[in-house]
Amino acid sequence: METYGKILLIAMPAFLLLVLFEKWYGWKKGKDTVRNMDMVSSLSSGVTNVTKDVIGLYLVVLSYPFLLKALAITTISNTIVVYVISFFALDFAGYWVHRLQHVTNFFWNGHIVHHSSEEFNLACALRQSVSAIVKTFAIFLLPAAILGVPPQVIGVVAPLHLFAQFWYHTQHINKMGLLEYILVTPSHHRVHHAKNPLYMDTNFCNLLNIWDRVFGTFQYEKNEVPIEYGITRKINARNFFDVYFGEIALLFRDIKNAPGIKNKMLYIVKPPGWSHTGDHKTASVIKRNLTSIQKGESDHRSIASVCYR
Ligand SMILES: [Zn+2]
Ligand SMILES: [Zn+2]
Repeated sequence: METYGKILLIAMPAFLLLVLFEKWYGWKKGKDTVRNMDMVSSLSSGVTNVTKDVIGLYLVVLSYPFLLKALAITTISNTIVVYVISFFALDFAGYWVHRLQHVTNFFWNGHIVHHSSEEFNLACALRQSVSAIVKTFAIFLLPAAILGVPPQVIGVVAPLHLFAQFWYHTQHINKMGLLEYILVTPSHHRVHHAKNPLYMDTNFCNLLNIWDRVFGTFQYEKNEVPIEYGITRKINARNFFDVYFGEIALLFRDIKNAPGIKNKMLYIVKPPGWSHTGDHKTASVIKRNLTSIQKGESDHRSIASVCYR
């Protein structure tokens, strides 16, 4: 946490300057992608989340040092190799954590705030939910633990890896040629923030654009399908409670109304839009419907208003 705090001291002012620069750049180019109130909301969300992390207001289900002690089969000395391994291990873990956040109701509640803006700009990168208090990240760091990557190295690489995900939240950078095949780019991540059925639940990668291709979740940005940002549920952006806790309130409502303990539990682990009645409106069901709609119509956006809930 100490290293995280130090890196944060440099990163936060830099992020703020870049957010303001993007606002100025958009205004100058006649394409302002930053609404003032939305920016304030994103920045305040970022500050509260960072404060929560710095004071340690979260629950670690399984700590990395514990995993390391239990599983390490070797120790790597503190060289450049260990940093490279740590980077790949964190990027791999980041992919799976991010995917889990999208495909289970429980974790979606901790991630939805990042997607709740109907804008897409650098400030959105800082939108994080204060209700995300369960940290499961270490479970996905098994490869690093087996290889004996020291926690101190993870402690340095993890915040750098996290903050390096800031830059690609912008509409001002178009496709980047060969880099599109190697890194997560603004184009790649714009698709991830889209609510168009074609784009839903794709592009979970953090920095390296390889895991989506390996695990079949990659989608490129199509010029003929303009991106609509945000989530499918209509959020009252002026209502603090709705922005931060609206989704979890709906989940509680669903759990309360579901018959039997099995259905109640399923609401926690199933994807957003799952229903015990069988009338599912999950991303995969919406995509399946999209395929049949596409056969008859050309407008991909015609069912973008279909709601998860
Ligand atoms: Zn996401
Ligand atoms: Zn994002």
